Amino acid sequence: MTVRVRFAPSPTGNLHIGTMRAALFNWLYAKHHNGLFILRIEDTDRQRSMPEYEKNILDGLAWLNLNLDEGPIGGGPYGPYRQSERIEDGLYEKYAKELVDAGKAYYCFLTTEDIEQDKERAKKAGIAYMHSRERSNLPAEELRQKIESGIPYVIRFKMTEDREIIMKDSIRGKIRFDCNLISDFVLIKSDGTPSYNFAVVIDDSLMKITHVIRGEDHVSNMPRQLALYEAFGFDTPEFAHLPMILGPDKSKLSKRHGATAATEYRDRGFLPEAFMNYLTLLGWSPVGEEEFFTAEQLCEQFDLDRVNNSGAVFDIKKLKWMNGQYIRKIDENDYIARVELYLNDSYKAQFQQLPRDKQVLALKAIRDNLDELSEVNEYITVFLESSTDYKTALGEINFSEQDSNVFRYLIQLIDSRNPNSPEEYSSLLETLVIDLEQGKGKVFKPIRLGVTAKAAGPNISYVLAFFGATIIKERLLDLLK
Ligand code: GLU
Repeated sequence: MTVRVRFAPSPTGNLHIGTMRAALFNWLYAKHHNGLFILRIEDTDRQRSMPEYEKNILDGLAWLNLNLDEGPIGGGPYGPYRQSERIEDGLYEKYAKELVDAGKAYYCFLTTEDIEQDKERAKKAGIAYMHSRERSNLPAEELRQKIESGIPYVIRFKMTEDREIIMKDSIRGKIRFDCNLISDFVLIKSDGTPSYNFAVVIDDSLMKITHVIRGEDHVSNMPRQLALYEAFGFDTPEFAHLPMILGPDKSKLSKRHGATAATEYRDRGFLPEAFMNYLTLLGWSPVGEEEFFTAEQLCEQFDLDRVNNSGAVFDIKKLKWMNGQYIRKIDENDYIARVELYLNDSYKAQFQQLPRDKQVLALKAIRDNLDELSEVNEYITVFLESSTDYKTALGEINFSEQDSNVFRYLIQLIDSRNPNSPEEYSSLLETLVIDLEQGKGKVFKPIRLGVTAKAAGPNISYVLAFFGATIIKERLLDLLK
């Protein structure tokens, strides 16, 4: 059996962290089992579904390299892969009518007001509202007339029954549902579109999905979906409901916890490999202590048996830390190429005026400071400031006699050694620290202040190599006057 999993987002909003994680776990599962990863766009809600959200979903998948085996763009043998196109093909209507003919579903003409009144009545009586199936039990002739005269109706599934439905979930084990408590539900709405529970069963079945992996919020839909599988006599796939992703306050992750669209993380300069690594750890535990995994290693190791069933906290600090580790780990040329893309327009022009070796030096200098590539704009400024900026920033800084000694000795060492590279400056600074018998802070701080007019910044050896002997000496001699 070929494993076929699907990711089935509704394009009613951007791809958020929780949905992205569902996509990732499906993809990893497919890769681990040499299976196929399918994208189905669930755009039955015509009001809220937008092409730009579908684009955002595709962009998010492409960012993490979650390549599709079948989907709305590349197609496949079980298309169309957009539910709106499947509606146009009359597919859901056909299957709903099949259930009506088999006596398992019925036309219901109750209006919203009728239903509201019933709900009100149930509330007053202190009982759970159940849809009144009897009121839809019309003689055949009356039913035909109503349909023909265009009175709006829905098609409802006969759900309420005195029995239990048991779902087996690969992550959560067995869950029992009492059908007495589940009202007859809508299959086809009055505008002719299918309900989520109906469309999802038809499509998962027709698309030959073997494993349904999705968020825990869909557990409550399971009795309805399982009843439909049974009514049609379809084979049921295996189900796995993933734990929720929580904010630091342990409530469901939402906008109020900060950025939620996956593409915002791309725009902030999270590396896709770091983001994938972190996201996989949200709900899945590897064997052993190792936390860093390549995509290949994740595909090899990921399986559902190590997915937890309790909520996973999204910890931005940990994600940033991990991203920082990746930024420092990737190949140097790769780092330069990627970080350059994040320079703001306002800095780009100035940056491009620098000779290439200085550009590279500046970018290398700040590598250890970055947790997100877009922070390049925060740290690069020291290399782009003009001497007037420097003078203004220098302002009223006072240097001590001890600082002056540091400056004098630094100039002396520069003259004797003629350093050029960051490594040469680094060893020169080491000599300075040893010979002056001072702590590093006491030596580096005045040098940084004297050369850049800033108290903090990128790696000092790189900073010195960037400015070079002439500027360093010019600035420090000026301060010694
Ligand atoms: N369109 C549904 C959602 O975005 C899909 C749920 C499912 O995977 O069955 O929540």
